[in-house]
Amino acid sequence: MKENILNNLKAISNRIQLACLKSNRDPRDVKLLLATKTVRAEDIKIAIEAGFHLIGENKVQEVKEKFEILSTVEHQKHFIGHLQTNKIKDILKYDVNCIQSLDRIDLAEKLHQRLSKENKTIDVFIQVNTSNEESKFGISPEDAVEFTKQVAQFDTLKIKGLMTIGLFSAEDEKVRVCFKLLKKIQMQINELHIPDVKVNELSMGMSNDLEIAIEEGATIIRVGTAIFGQRIYPDSYYWNESK
Ligand SMILES: *Cc1c(COP(=O)(O)O)cnc(C)c1O
Repeated sequence: MKENILNNLKAISNRIQLACLKSNRDPRDVKLLLATKTVRAEDIKIAIEAGFHLIGENKVQEVKEKFEILSTVEHQKHFIGHLQTNKIKDILKYDVNCIQSLDRIDLAEKLHQRLSKENKTIDVFIQVNTSNEESKFGISPEDAVEFTKQVAQFDTLKIKGLMTIGLFSAEDEKVRVCFKLLKKIQMQINELHIPDVKVNELSMGMSNDLEIAIEEGATIIRVGTAIFGQRIYPDSYYWNESK
């Protein structure tokens, strides 16, 4: 297993290099986030010790379960799943550094209340539903700029980026449209010069579409399957609140 993970990490690093070469970008501007849902803490540790210090979890329960084992290795932890408001306390308790999936105002409000009480701040990305699929979370592209303005009013929430899940399609050009749209929204937001808001990060691209995302400006790609292997549950299990 260890050898598989290390080989896969090498392969992903090569894919990042190639995509950067093709689009004239510096590979140092593209961070690899390990998407670690369902992955055992011991296996995550192997990847962290190999030099990949950024992980992303989808479920608060898994953040909790892996907390102790992972506390022995230095890393950054982002939350990339659908966040229910009743889990906010735990997100803060288990040292999540950034919530990439901020997608509704009641969540922003409740986060702000809790953070204010604890005298803390947290980094957030706005999740945008660029594929307009009902099955996916995220603010709709038309509402993204206005939503960002609203979130900016909560001084405990530090807006650092945008996140999206591209359309699942074998047609590259349809996937590319999603990533282009996120880039466009980033430029619209940054042109407004909202005080304290600098949307530098674009979190987009996964195992199957990371090259397209890098070509369109991704600064963080989120990769699970291509590093840790196939998961047993379908992704919808992790993206739907009802399950
Ligand atoms: C699972 C997941 C990923 C990684 O997907 P892979 O196809 O396994 O690389 C990326 N982003 C989110 C939000 C995920 O839930």
